[in-house]
Order: sequence, then structure tokens, then C-alpha cells
Amino acid sequence: MTVHGRPRRTARRVRITGCGIRPGLLNPRPPEEPMKSVQLYDTTLRDGTQGEGFQLSMLDKLRIAQRLDAFGVDYIEGGWPGSNPKDIEFFQEAKKLDLAHAKLAAFGSTRRAGMAVGDDPQVRLLLEAETPVVTIFGKSWDLHVTEVLRTTAGENQAMIRDTVRHLKTHGREVVYDAEHFFDGYKASPEHALATLKAAAEGGADVLVLCDTNGGTLPSEVMQICRAVTEAIPGTPFGIHTHNDCELAVANAIAAVKAGGVQVQGTINGYGERTGNCNLTSVIPILQLKMGIEVVPELEQLKSLSYFVDDVSNNPHFARAPFVGRTAFAHKGGMHVNAVQKLARSYEHIEPGAVGNTQQILVSELSGQMNILLKAEKLGLGLEKGSPEAKSVLARVKDLEHEGYSFEAAGGSLELLIRKETASYEKPFELKEFHTSYRLYRDGHDPVCEATVKVHVGDEAEYTVAEGRGVVNALDKALRKALKPFYPEIAEVSLLDYKVRIIDGHDATAAKTRVLVVSGDGKSTWGTVGVSENIIEASWIAIVDSLDLFLQRHRAKLPQTETV
Ligand SMILES: [Zn+2]
Repeated sequence: MTVHGRPRRTARRVRITGCGIRPGLLNPRPPEEPMKSVQLYDTTLRDGTQGEGFQLSMLDKLRIAQRLDAFGVDYIEGGWPGSNPKDIEFFQEAKKLDLAHAKLAAFGSTRRAGMAVGDDPQVRLLLEAETPVVTIFGKSWDLHVTEVLRTTAGENQAMIRDTVRHLKTHGREVVYDAEHFFDGYKASPEHALATLKAAAEGGADVLVLCDTNGGTLPSEVMQICRAVTEAIPGTPFGIHTHNDCELAVANAIAAVKAGGVQVQGTINGYGERTGNCNLTSVIPILQLKMGIEVVPELEQLKSLSYFVDDVSNNPHFARAPFVGRTAFAHKGGMHVNAVQKLARSYEHIEPGAVGNTQQILVSELSGQMNILLKAEKLGLGLEKGSPEAKSVLARVKDLEHEGYSFEAAGGSLELLIRKETASYEKPFELKEFHTSYRLYRDGHDPVCEATVKVHVGDEAEYTVAEGRGVVNALDKALRKALKPFYPEIAEVSLLDYKVRIIDGHDATAAKTRVLVVSGDGKSTWGTVGVSENIIEASWIAIVDSLDLFLQRHRAKLPQTETV
């Protein structure tokens, strides 16, 4: 995997203070002293994947990690190396990611009872992940210590202290997740606080109070956080909440108000049961309502939210606050009339601040701005208001109406912009394709066959190929046809393929959206195709992928990341 093209931002100095609330607008900090008082800790790749219907392949995880880093998240929890080999593999691959800002964290538990920490294989795997940060969870609730772990309070505290200290002596930044902290505190404040003290004695960098069962109320969170600061003033605390009472976001905000310096959560709130604290809500609340700057480009929020939905192959939640399709949609006649006169009469923030748009008065300008920005990044200057810009915008709108989504298919968007500018030259022309599927009665694996006919310049090429499935066969046949003309195409491979049936809210019939990820060993790019026919949708995505590769190759442009 390569690096996205973002320049490394000037380092933001993270100063952990007792008070997480920055005076914000009332007392802006001088620009020479940037400060971030709340850190974002994303656990989409670990706690998020505990959620039903939220599965990520290794490639998905790497793509999301890159996107989170580009967005400005401070910590990315990649997985639990002790729980499955897939996560060990992820950390090996993740070493190749050149993250500009975020630190990777490996997640695990304290050592086992009655075992020396150096002998515990699960702890050893945490070190072998070679991440700068290790997050471990320990038991805070006496009920869990005696009934689940079946050990004593003293041994539980030693397990926490030893493990934190061991990781610290190996040079790790250590985040201590106090599991069931609020329930534990309510059962026995002394017991719960003693476990936190053990982590602080071991040298934990931050103590994260977890509402694991999601049943705590904001007023309780605030009160208990204050008690923690009083009992353990030397170590900063963070918050990890679950949404069982639909209070995960409110609880995280309550903790920040009480002085919390780290918020843990997931994009779109994915996670076990009813989900984790939704970072796509917490982030704009911190930044827009509380004046705590946590990310440099909040306008990328909606795009990030859609990206994670698309990559995980989940439908977007239309009513999601801030980022949902209907978050700023107005229907009621009186409301429409009022927002047309004065947007803020029925909108709590300016939708563009989070990259969203008001519906009814669809802001052409903001849509156009996103595309102009993309073109500028590609070095294809599109002038605002120019006929080219207008035609790109119109094309994008039409395609979106047909069911296209470009959030995880930057490659297709790039190609579309190129096609509307003078830099595009058609590398080949498709004349026809045909696929067939052969099933054998003798137990032989089924075979799929594809034929394609393409024209390159004046020459016609007619090829046939077999594959494991329709898409594989089509991809092979097309490459075979193009290889004599473009030998460089051998570098491209198909890395991922996803199919989604679109709900058709703004399309007339049910359609299929196919998302393809291709790579050339140095970078990856996503392309998309939509059609009522799955084979045609796949074909469109594959053709876009090879076309884009050839455009860049011809222009001697680096194959930059366009996921
Ligand atoms: Zn959790």
C-alpha cells in the first residue's frame, strides 16, 4: 500500500491538561501555540468489527486506517493480536503504512492470573505487533474479578500494574481501558479506584473509563469522572462508551466536560449490540459546539462516514446526525420557507461545515467546490464556473442519481474529471463482451468464460479467457486483449470486489453497485459501476480501473492513492 498524497501536517502539540475544555471562541489560542486538548481514539477496526454486519478484510482495514489518518484521528486501534491471526497479519502489513499523524495501537488484556507477565503469550503478541501504542483492558468491577476471573482483588491489581509496567519498560505508550468502570464504581468505589491506581502506578499514560454495558447516564458519568480526577490527580483520563441507552455520545461529552482528554469511538457508531460512541457525532460537537479543535478539515466528515459505509458494504443511515442524507433536509412548507430566508432558522449548524448540504436548496457551490478541490489535487485545474467544471458537476449529479457513489471510488471520479478535460485520450474502445457459465456433472469446479472485443486505434482484438467467476473471467479477457498494446497493464491486479443492491430511494429500479479496488503493487485505487445488470456493473468498474491506470501511465503521473 502506498501513501496518500497528503503532506505531513505541522505537528500539533498535544498537551494534556486537567481541563479538557478549551475556551474556544471566547479566548482563541494564539496561532503560534497550537494545542489539542482532546485526542480522538478510533476503534472502528477493533470494537467496530464486534458489530453484527460489520466485517472488514485486511485490505478494508488498511484503507480505513489511511483514511482515518488523513482525517486527523490521533490513535487508530487496529485489532487484538492475541485473539486471531488476521489481526497479527494486519499489524505486519500496517507497518508499511506511512501514517502522517495517527499512532497505531494494538489492543489486548492484562496478563493472566498467577502467571509472570513476561511468560504470557498474549502480552508477548502485543509487543510483537510493534505498535507505538498498546491498549490493555483490565477488570474494574469486583463482581467480574471474583466471579469471572476467579481471583482476588490484590492479584487483579497486580495483573494490571505488572502488565502496564512491562509494556512501559518496552517503550510503549500505554492506554489503560478500565472495563466496566462505571458499573464497578457503583458497586464499590474503593475497588474500582484501586484498579485505576494500579494502572497509574504501572505508568499508564491515560486511564480510559469504559461504560462497557452502556447503561450509565450522563449525570453519573460526570460525577464519577470528577471523583476519579480527585482520587488520581496525576494521570489524565479518557472515555469509552457504548450506545445501549442511546447515550454514548452524551456520555462521552459529559466526560470531556469533566476533564477527559481522550474520546474513544467508531465511525458511524459501529460496534457490538447497539454500537459504540459515534465519532461522526462527537467530532463536530467538540469542534463546532465546544470550540475544541480535534481535526483540521471537518468538511471531510461526511465523506469519511460514507467511505466507511461503502468499504464495509453497509447502507448509509439517512437520519444520522450531521452526516446523514436527511440531516439538513427540509420538507415542511413553513420550514422550507423559513430556511430559504434564513438557513439558521431551522438548522443548528451550517451543513457545509461537516461536508453536508441542505436539501431543497441543494448548494451547487459546495458540490462544485469538492470537485474543484479534487481536480486541483490531481493537477487538473478546473476553473470555478467554467464550462468544464459545470459539465463535471452535472455528470456527477446524474451519476449519483443513477445510484453511483464516489466516496470509495476516487478512481472513477478522477477518470470522470479527466474525461471532461483536454487531458483525456481514449485508450481503447469496447465493442462487445459475452460471458457464459459452465457447470459440470462430474464434480469438476464450474468454469466461467468471457469473450471481449475491443478496438485499439484501428486494430481489433478478440479474446477469450476463463476465470473463477464472471468478473475474474472478464478482467482476464480484457487484459489479454490490451496487453499487446499496453504491456504495462500486467502490473495491475484486482484486489477487491464488492456488490451492493441499492435501495433505490432516488433511483427508479433496484440496481447493483459494484466497487472494485485495483492495485499495481505501489498504490491502490477504487472504481465503481452501476447497472441493473450485475455483469455490466462489474464491467464498468473494471474498464474504469484499467482506463485510469493507462491515463496516468501515459501522462507519466505517479499512480497515487485514489481510494
Ligand atoms: Zn467497547
